[in-house]
Amino acid sequence: MPEEYPRNLRELEASFSTEEACRAYLLRLRWPEGFRCRRCGGGRYWPVRGTLLECVGCGCQTSVTAGTIFQDTRTPLPVWFRAMWWMTTQKNGASALGLQRVLGLKSYETAWAWLHKLRRAMVRPGRDRLRGRIEVDECYVGGLEEGLPGRLNLDKALVVIAAQEDGPGIGRIRMRQIMDASAESLIPFVRDSVEPGSVVHTDGWAGYLPLKAEGYEHDVTVVRGKRKTASELLPRVHRVVSLLKRWLLGTHQGAVSHKHLDYYLDEFTFRFNRRRSGSRGKLFYRLMQQAVATDPAPLDQILHPESTAKTKPQSVGVK
Ligand SMILES: [Zn+2]
Repeated sequence: MPEEYPRNLRELEASFSTEEACRAYLLRLRWPEGFRCRRCGGGRYWPVRGTLLECVGCGCQTSVTAGTIFQDTRTPLPVWFRAMWWMTTQKNGASALGLQRVLGLKSYETAWAWLHKLRRAMVRPGRDRLRGRIEVDECYVGGLEEGLPGRLNLDKALVVIAAQEDGPGIGRIRMRQIMDASAESLIPFVRDSVEPGSVVHTDGWAGYLPLKAEGYEHDVTVVRGKRKTASELLPRVHRVVSLLKRWLLGTHQGAVSHKHLDYYLDEFTFRFNRRRSGSRGKLFYRLMQQAVATDPAPLDQILHPESTAKTKPQSVGVK
């Protein structure tokens, strides 16, 4: 299907004012090659009661929202579409308070939960890895003071960042919250984020030493004395870090708890990697596309991600 998206709010409202129009759009996104029954693989269906698709071959019923972030929603789809439009077109991202105002939602909690559902669709597993020359470094996020000696800090979250070099500028990025700066935390991140054979540029921290054995070219710059700071040696990562901190403090007033930080990092990455996209509608399209490919997230899982969602490295080493 050619990329099909509204170019502005007027087009959004004209195209997606009804439940039927929204469902038809989701159907095209979910099955770009045409409907496929998940049980028998058949390609033909009857519409049943407006929202269900019944396979002609085996009688199995499904709906276009089943198994997506829209599953079991009681909110009309046009409202979801407006929320997603708003979230993708805000240059600096969306806060729950802002969404609550724009949609006239009664509760702040509802707006907050929606944004979290949408963040889960912002970075999909299995996305392609960065390649080329990549800077990698970790930093602390949250709290006001910058870094303590020994890279140990218990109040702040430790985030590892990979930034692709694009001439003097920055290409795409990846980031993840990690328990500590041990090799057991750092190496799996690089493995998931960077294509083997790429050049990974880091400082001299021992946690990065196994990179060579993992099939990367490892370019180490050792920070000696005070003449050059890490931010000069790995300028792209540190530019990303300062933008991330500003975003967390600005759009979200610094009110992001560690247990939800991963999802904010996903949102930041989603926006950053598409920052040069000429059309905001394209971000909306990409988010929609990922939303129909993302498992539903029950509210309980959103409130307590530590018990169910992403797994983090469990090593206890201290950097
Ligand atoms: Zn079937």
